[in-house]
Amino acid sequence: MFFPAIKYDEPVFRPPGEARSVIIQATLGCSWNQCAFCEMYTSKKFKARSFEDLKPEIEILANAYKGVKKVFLADGDAFVLSANKLIPIINEINNQFGKLQRISSYALPKDILNKSESELKELRNLGLKLLYIGIETGDDNLLKLINKGETFNTTLEGILKAHDAGIETSIMIINGLGGKKYTKQHALKSAEVINKINPKFLSTLTLSLPYGLDHFQNRFNGDYQQQTIVELFEELKLFIENLDVENVIYRSNHVSNNLFLKGTLSKDQNELIELLNAAIQNTHPNIYPSASSIL
Ligand code: SF4
Repeated sequence: MFFPAIKYDEPVFRPPGEARSVIIQATLGCSWNQCAFCEMYTSKKFKARSFEDLKPEIEILANAYKGVKKVFLADGDAFVLSANKLIPIINEINNQFGKLQRISSYALPKDILNKSESELKELRNLGLKLLYIGIETGDDNLLKLINKGETFNTTLEGILKAHDAGIETSIMIINGLGGKKYTKQHALKSAEVINKINPKFLSTLTLSLPYGLDHFQNRFNGDYQQQTIVELFEELKLFIENLDVENVIYRSNHVSNNLFLKGTLSKDQNELIELLNAAIQNTHPNIYPSASSIL
């Protein structure tokens, strides 16, 4: 949904699941902004916006888009804001919009760990029900090479802390993140961390190199060798084969993906693996589909 009622600080990103949500820029940019593969907010300096700036915007948006059910707090990790800052913003959103289905935002595991259990529960009770977390990989070595600023353990602890407070998570993994050299450890350790998290939603994106291979190789702190499309499918297959989760809604339907997949894990695990086998053997007709899903 496009919201011309206010002027946004571009570029603005939101997850596909928030296509019909009102977007409120509680922060600008990303508080970390150092991941080797990410160019989303490199044009912005991180800034937390003041409640005084946000209040009139919330009022304008609530009046302009009555009946909206969901609000997404942008930018990169609005959840970095302390509970003391988030609570008045969320209270104002609730006052102005009335009953919402949910409020959500991007978050880093450290943003969750920096809040107390009671703060997380209070945020959940006020309607912040979903956090989108790009954990990218479960492999500690690869997390260092991409400069994620997180580890297997901080990722796990942060996400489980959110779950304990009743906040659901949507987790993103990047297919191809480590290239040929790190592909196996990336697939296996990512499956391991997902098995321990059992998120509500899981998605896989594919590494994109908007500034080219050299640019990424210069930012990656290891030996990055780009994979072929078949090798990317093999990595994804290894990842999915090693998942042992329940009722996880899985999507691989980002514009970066070479093959669109969707299903519920583990119910559709074998079907997804068969589709990947067909793609690996180049017998699947829907590689590079235009828009539709294949399950
Ligand atoms: S934390 Fe997310 S938004 Fe920030 S640099 Fe890393 S991938 Fe990009």
